[in-house]
Amino acid sequence: MKYEGMIYRPPSEADSLILQVAVGCSYNRCTFCHSFQGKEFRIKSFEEIREDIDEAATYGRISRVFLADGDALMLPQKDLLQILSYLKLKIRGLERVGVYANAVDILNKDMQELKELMSLGLGIIYLGLESGNREVLKRIKKNATAEQMIRAGKRVKEAGILLSVTVLLGIGGVELSQAHAEDTGKVLSEMDPDYVGALSLIIVPGTPIAEELETGKLVLPTPFELIRELGTMIANCRFTNCFFASNHASNYLPLRIRMPGEKEKALKLIQAVLQKKDPELLRPEYMRAL
Ligand code: SF4
Repeated sequence: MKYEGMIYRPPSEADSLILQVAVGCSYNRCTFCHSFQGKEFRIKSFEEIREDIDEAATYGRISRVFLADGDALMLPQKDLLQILSYLKLKIRGLERVGVYANAVDILNKDMQELKELMSLGLGIIYLGLESGNREVLKRIKKNATAEQMIRAGKRVKEAGILLSVTVLLGIGGVELSQAHAEDTGKVLSEMDPDYVGALSLIIVPGTPIAEELETGKLVLPTPFELIRELGTMIANCRFTNCFFASNHASNYLPLRIRMPGEKEKALKLIQAVLQKKDPELLRPEYMRAL
């Protein structure tokens, strides 16, 4: 397999074959994101992709494939259909293909197109919401409004594709902490995703948000304030059936809960941690990483 640069994939795709169909992120302007800095965006030719699929076909049974890089759903529909059809033809045991997408990529596909992709194996879309708060989305230069995020999330679900949404604790700073947590819970509820992954903001040097931190424009919440955000977010979430996880390495309090069933239990646990304010209850700083 020929990979260009660092490859990122969702934690739940750890055992998947990573097929790089594009290099970088077509947007690449979110202020907190360092993943594809310095990578000039390009879509790989089908010949390059076909070579990788042919090689993967010799590995034996592969049940999951993840299409990298940052927003591979932006590929033209005909390219995605060609890739998915070839994967289906060559990869034995293929059950699901996953992809990262931003809201604009999703909204650029109509229902018919998403259903076509689903029928050829696209089984899960990972969408970075980060925040449901209008002001936060503007500040971090996310290329979509909360309303677009909701429409995109609903469209994925309506097409019969699993929806996994990522949110970022701390991204609103101290100033917008409460509004960020409340609005994110509300927007998530509107989307009603199958999975939510809550990560904590980790500042990477060289990103625009690192500069905001240096100049004092952004003040980061403390670990316990981040846990309060998590609690507020969960309290505002109303889901039909969602697996909510904050067990990413960046978080101070790892949780894995099925909602709505385990919501109250999680809120009680968070309340207890906030009352005790015992640092021993938190994941140690040295174990936090991206
Ligand atoms: S859309 Fe995603 S990958 Fe692209 S810059 Fe924003 S956070 Fe990074």
